[in-house]
Amino acid sequence: MSNPQPIDSMVYPRYSAIATFFRLPHITDPSQLDIAIVGAPFDGSAGYMAGPRYAPREIRARSATIRPHSMKGISPFEKYRIADYGDISTTPFSIEETYRRIEEAVDHLLSHDVIPVTVGGDHGITYPVLRAVGKKHGPVAVIQIDSHPDTHDTQFGHKTTHATMFRRCIEENLVIPDKVISIGLRGSLFHAADLEYGKEIGIRVVFPDEVHERGTEPIIKEIHDIIGTCKTYFTLDIDGVDPAFAPGTPVPEVGGLTSLQTLQIIRGLEGLKIVGTDLCEVSPPADNPNQITSHLAAQLIFEMLCVI
Ligand code: MN
Repeated sequence: MSNPQPIDSMVYPRYSAIATFFRLPHITDPSQLDIAIVGAPFDGSAGYMAGPRYAPREIRARSATIRPHSMKGISPFEKYRIADYGDISTTPFSIEETYRRIEEAVDHLLSHDVIPVTVGGDHGITYPVLRAVGKKHGPVAVIQIDSHPDTHDTQFGHKTTHATMFRRCIEENLVIPDKVISIGLRGSLFHAADLEYGKEIGIRVVFPDEVHERGTEPIIKEIHDIIGTCKTYFTLDIDGVDPAFAPGTPVPEVGGLTSLQTLQIIRGLEGLKIVGTDLCEVSPPADNPNQITSHLAAQLIFEMLCVI
């Protein structure tokens, strides 16, 4: 039996048909899949501006423009059984209930050895995903592209938000702190000591200056040196990319990675043992009229599929 394939865009134009991720079939039976692209349309743990709840739907529409073969000759849909798994049922009124459902949905995928590629949503959704990943795989190495460390203890007194997500993951032993690489951190801080927590526990922080000055190649080499053969989770907050390339995000920070640097870093992850990925914080209502951020997000997700 051949793998699920995208609708043929030379037969059905890319502006037609019901939108699914990469024009793949919508399949909800994990036993038929190796990789599931799944939406988590929730922005109730965002502290500033809502909007990422609309991202899975918009990225589906934009992903119709992505062709099934990479320029490097990688064809993920031939290599793996990949489909649009649909959206996890979320509620806009409860962070706890939504996270419970996300964790349960990812548990279900992992119980069938399906690799989850989750499309947020605000970045808080990485926490329930990593809880499920932790149950299956134990603590994992993490590569985070992001402008913010997401390691606050609380936000408005709450423990589970998109700005505290990573600290919860560390506290619950879901990640291996000295195998965490955070790339793209920048902007201003609420407290002078905000970056100290990451330093103390051994996170390797790569500021965008370093990427611009050294290029992506030595950074990629270092990622492989640090992580080696460890099981690895890759999380991409679109605000790690410069707002010139990704304006549609709730909390943009100037001076970020270019779209090309981001592509190069993802391509450089080839060879790592990736057990899951996500892409978060795309906000269609904040995007420019051409939805350039969702378009970039679709391409970045495709590149993730190419390196799994
Ligand atoms: Mn983030």
